[in-house]
This record gives sequence, C-alpha cells and structure tokens, in this order.
Amino acid sequence: MANFHRVVAIDGPAASGKSSVARLLARRLGYSYVNSGAIYRAITWHILQRGIDAGDTERIAQTVEAARISCRFRNSESHILVDDFDPVEHLRDDRVNENVSRVSSIPRVRKTVVREMREYARHRDLIVEGRDIGSVVFPETPYKFYVDASPEVRLRRRAAEGQRDKIAMRDRADFLRPISPLIIAKDAQVIDTSHLTIEGVVKEIITRLKEMGLPI
Ligand code: C5P
Repeated sequence: MANFHRVVAIDGPAASGKSSVARLLARRLGYSYVNSGAIYRAITWHILQRGIDAGDTERIAQTVEAARISCRFRNSESHILVDDFDPVEHLRDDRVNENVSRVSSIPRVRKTVVREMREYARHRDLIVEGRDIGSVVFPETPYKFYVDASPEVRLRRRAAEGQRDKIAMRDRADFLRPISPLIIAKDAQVIDTSHLTIEGVVKEIITRLKEMGLPI
C-alpha cells in the first residue's frame, strides 16, 4: 500500500474474539497492535466526562476535533491518550459500553479516528482490529479477516469477563448505521471462532497469511 507499512485487518462483531486474536497475532508476527474500539471508547469517555450528551452530535464533533488524540505504543500495543490522559481504566465502564456506538456513528468522529489510524501505519507494521478496518480504513490491504462466533458463544465470552456489556444492542447499532457499518469486506476471509481457541484462530490466520505470500 502506498506510504503504508503492512496492515493485517481483523474485523468482527462484539466479543467475537478479535482483540485476543489480534494481540497474540501481533506478538507472533512482531507487529504492533491497534485496538480501534479502544480509540472510540477513549473518545466516548472523554465526551461523557465533560458532561456532553451522547446525542449532541455537533458538540461531540467539535470537542473531538479540538481534542489532542495521541497514541503511545507500549510493548507494541497502542494506548490512546486524549488531551494527554490515558483513560485505560475506564474503557469498559457501563456508561462507555452504553454510549460508544452512538458516539462512533458520528461521521466527523470517524473521520478523526480513521486519520489517526492511517498515521500509525506510516511508521510501523500493524494488526488493526475493529468494524471497518478492511472496508474503510485500510481497503488496500490484501490481508483482511472477519472473525465471527455464534451469539450464544459471544454472550458467554463477555459474561466470563465479568462484563455486563449489552453486545446485541451494540451489534445492531454497528450493523445498521449508515456510515462505515460493520460489514464483511468483499475480499475478507471469514473465520468462525465459535469452536476454536485463540491459539487455533491465530494458527489459522498465520497459515492463510503465508498462503497469501506474507513473509513470516
Ligand atoms: O471493539 P469494541 O467492542 O471495543 O468497540 C466498541 C465500539 O466502538 C463498537 O461497538 C463500535 O460502536 C465502535 N467501533 C467502531 N469502529 C471500529 C471499532 C469500534 O465503530 N473500527
């Protein structure tokens, strides 16, 4: 891809296993790992922290455009800072879970986040996971995967993490939004993780990447 390092895109619905897979895959390949959901979560936390209503589209867009969003790579893993604060401990708060899909559906918010991610790829090889990575953020990469699991398995996974995340509600919003909805990019390889371990999924992806000619 012009001006970009290598990017492996991993998209999928909530609790499909993509974060664990992306993190382990990044370690195996020696790439850096970017969790794009964490960027939308950090922004949502920033908005709520300022008392801005999640429905106030204009104010949210202005606030996000004015914020200093930066990324530190620690142990090859992205940490997002908003106005120099790292909200990592708050990213899974109930109020963030409940509002992130609404905030992330705002076109100007997405534009800011997409620009950020493309900037990271100018400096390093990346595994990026999210909803629109293969379809919108890095459409030129040939290395695209869509990981999925049955709704029951995904619910069980979230519950096992002690989360009260309403994933069905978020999935619905993410599938139905008009801008950058969660879709399977037409050239993505689909992997059903329902009956696979994280290790099993990573192995499968590495096999396919080798077949595609990625030097590993
Ligand atoms: O991946 P995670 O479940 O943490 O993402 C949280 C939310 O961020 C998603 O439900 C979605 O609304 C939004 N998101 C997005 N585009 C991405 C990644 C996440 O809209 N690429």
